[in-house]
Amino acid sequence: MAEKRDYYEVLGVSKDADHDTIKKAYRTLAKKYHPDINKSADAPEKFKEVQEAYEVLSDETKKNLYDRYGHAGVDPNANGGMGGGFGGFNFSDFDVGDIFSSFFGGGKKSRSSGPMQGEDKYLQMEISFLEAAFGVKKVISLTIDERCTSCRGTGALNGTDVETCSHCHGSGVTRTQQRTIFGTFESQTTCPYCKGKGKVVKNKCPDCKGEGYVRKKVNVDVSVPAGINSGQQLRITGKGEKGINGGPNGDLYVEIIVSKHKYFERQNNDVYVSVPISYVDAALGCKIDVPTIHGDVKVEVPAGIQNGQKLRIKGKGIKDLRSTSIGDEYVILDIKVPSKLSKEERDLYVKLKSLESKQGDSIFEKFKKAFKNK
Ligand SMILES: [Zn+2]
Ligand SMILES: [Zn+2]
Repeated sequence: MAEKRDYYEVLGVSKDADHDTIKKAYRTLAKKYHPDINKSADAPEKFKEVQEAYEVLSDETKKNLYDRYGHAGVDPNANGGMGGGFGGFNFSDFDVGDIFSSFFGGGKKSRSSGPMQGEDKYLQMEISFLEAAFGVKKVISLTIDERCTSCRGTGALNGTDVETCSHCHGSGVTRTQQRTIFGTFESQTTCPYCKGKGKVVKNKCPDCKGEGYVRKKVNVDVSVPAGINSGQQLRITGKGEKGINGGPNGDLYVEIIVSKHKYFERQNNDVYVSVPISYVDAALGCKIDVPTIHGDVKVEVPAGIQNGQKLRIKGKGIKDLRSTSIGDEYVILDIKVPSKLSKEERDLYVKLKSLESKQGDSIFEKFKKAFKNK
């Protein structure tokens, strides 16, 4: 175990610091390291350390023991020590409202008694390539907690049935005291009677049985706009987690996942498709019906087209998500050489070959000569 740091050093005060200085240093550091606001990995450890230092230095008896004997004088694990007193947050020198108002930005009103919007919910929805291109209407079945309309989320039969919780006096938290030989420590927990709401309901709303919300199976219409792409999200307001203390529900975010198409591929708003044509069609040129997402389109392939060359079909791509502009389709020509020849075809190829040699060097011979000259 690491050596315990000096308590004065932990709080950043000098050995002769007075009570107010110690208290001020503690407040600053406790706020800085409180695990509810400081999410760094060592915050809980630091927070505990600060708390421990303060528990000793704020108590005259313990402070004297510490000044004389160091850590040994106030070892919480030793017999007769503070035995577990470090577990809770020490509020003995503060008023609860004070420290919580700085943590949670509220006034004296408890952090949890006002209406708050619920958390957002996330889900993914897979749609096809063509659904993404043209837009689609989908229905999602969800179970959500909707604010009860009869009691407007209060859970009460009528307005006068809502009372301030008598156990926590509306703060939503209860404090328990622990007496030790060194003094009294206080820790706080959510009030078990009102579950932190600060309010209790005398006569419950019969529709939601006092909960303030009703669990419902709902069908949510999702209108997916044309041109959407994988990873984009749609927001559906009010279909997230239930609100707190009668607040509105959070929102639902639907992330779109577009599945792959067998032939079409998307790049921004353009569509790419690979089309096989024969060696002869490539040499002589041809007219072909090319599939596009908008249906077949006649395309004239010019004579002498090369393998992998692209032809553009304007306006046959995907509509832009946010404007009326539309992408193009690119046809990539995949020129196929026959792997088997009939007798007649073979004779014709041989004839072609002799014709080629009469015209001089073949393509390959030209390449070889150029290669040697380099
Ligand atoms: Zn209460
Ligand atoms: Zn109700």
